[in-house]
Amino acid sequence: MYRPLYPRLFGTDGVRGIVNKDFTPFFALKLGLAIGSYFGPGARILIGRDARVGNAPVLHAVLSGLTATGVKVYDAGVLPTPALQLSVRDFGFDGGVVVTASHNPPEYSGVKVIMSDGIEAPRNVEEEIERMFHEEKFRYVPWSSIGSVQSFPRAIEHYVESVVKRVDAEAVRKRGFKVVADCANSGAALTTPAILKKLGAKVLSINCDFGTPYRSYEPTPENLEDTVRIVRAVEADLAVAHDADADRAIFIDRKGRVIPGDVSAVMLIYHIAEKNPDLPRRIVTPVSTSHFLMDETVVKKGIEVVWTAVGFIKIARKIQEIGGAIAGFEDNGGFAYPKHQLVRDGGMSTALMLEALAKKGAGLDALYDSIPKPAIVRTKVPVSSREVGLKAVEMVRERFSGYRRIEIDGVKIFAEDWAALVRMSGTEPIVRIMAESPSEEKAMKVAEELKNLVASLVAEVTRS
Ligand code: MG
Repeated sequence: MYRPLYPRLFGTDGVRGIVNKDFTPFFALKLGLAIGSYFGPGARILIGRDARVGNAPVLHAVLSGLTATGVKVYDAGVLPTPALQLSVRDFGFDGGVVVTASHNPPEYSGVKVIMSDGIEAPRNVEEEIERMFHEEKFRYVPWSSIGSVQSFPRAIEHYVESVVKRVDAEAVRKRGFKVVADCANSGAALTTPAILKKLGAKVLSINCDFGTPYRSYEPTPENLEDTVRIVRAVEADLAVAHDADADRAIFIDRKGRVIPGDVSAVMLIYHIAEKNPDLPRRIVTPVSTSHFLMDETVVKKGIEVVWTAVGFIKIARKIQEIGGAIAGFEDNGGFAYPKHQLVRDGGMSTALMLEALAKKGAGLDALYDSIPKPAIVRTKVPVSSREVGLKAVEMVRERFSGYRRIEIDGVKIFAEDWAALVRMSGTEPIVRIMAESPSEEKAMKVAEELKNLVASLVAEVTRS
């Protein structure tokens, strides 16, 4: 089939860009017109946003585009993306739009499109929207059919109640947890402390006002140093830290250890498997997750691992395709409990983690210690363009042609005592490198060597 080649707008997880630089109001308006033209006049769309300062012009331009194409817009305000996704599904909207750039730096904004089942738009829908954007074939409606904008304040309460309903709240309440909730100065501030309170926890909320964030949105160990200090100072049982759209939940134990997302995923998987013996004994995760970790944990428990490319939409659609799973997750703290919804769900992960601890009668630190952990080192090399990065990844693949490889996304290389993934990021101009090994020294060495190799290949590609 002939398909005109348009520059791609959507990355791994929506359209993102720097406000007033590549993400101007004009750009956002055209995007709104294209999204509205896709859904069509009369469609009911729920819109929401994270609390980024730069979202204001983007939001209003997108609203302008949607209403001009006859879409009836319901505005849920600032909220976590999974809260919007749940309302789209449960209240029968035709789709959703989230103005968010997730974990990107604060100068970014972004737009995500949600389908009526609450799941992110598949690639073919994104392509259709991109085509309308570039051809500027917008379905303007006459003045009398212009869409309305009305507020939809129910999404937050609905989400909080829905999450709490999915766990044994009574059992969690009995434990009386003390939890630090780090809400990344965004939507989670409206939901996570409320969920925790309903579960009987004593909640210490931090980074819960909106606007310029006190820490970078990405919940990485470097960005959570203050949170770690607070957990230890107040002797909390644990902390949960989100990103700006609160689809991720990263946990910190009472000793102040920031638990990698794939390790907390293993804890949640064990718990969900016990809680739901009826679920198919498999999980879905991208190749960026540690193979060593999966082999040593879930595989040993008789749970099958289904590997996908990076990007949660790939995981969600794979779970649908294979008829269900215990969970789908990413190593960054994005975890989906399909019994609630097939999306990364930071609030749901938090409630499940408390339930797991309550049922086990253990602390997060003990649970963390009980899981064998390979050393995983993640690093990155900046590139000037996606093309340069992809070429460098291809050259890495050639260098390791004698090794066993998985090439679902970038190249994952397997050796006797290490494995490594080299791939072009779908959201930022960087080549991501992940090296894993039972030996920390080995993982560091492999990561360092690959980083140097990629950097030299990038320089070579840039020169030629
Ligand atoms: Mg996110």
